[in-house]
Amino acid sequence: MSSIINNRKNIIMCSQCYEEFPSGYEYRLHWEEKHFYPYLKNNRFDHVRAKKDARYMKDIDRLIKEISNSI
Ligand SMILES: [Zn+2]
Repeated sequence: MSSIINNRKNIIMCSQCYEEFPSGYEYRLHWEEKHFYPYLKNNRFDHVRAKKDARYMKDIDRLIKEISNSI
């Protein structure tokens, strides 16, 4: 319990590949690179393929909305 500073804990787990991240920023970078841009074609997001790959539909629905708002 005394190694909190040295042993930074990963607190966010990717809902799609279960990789863990210490902050929402790192998670978002990972998510965009691995789970968003690969499905982006001709400036359109391939929802069907992304959803097919997603393990939790609920989560990806929420994340798609989140990211769609910022592009
Ligand atoms: Zn992931």
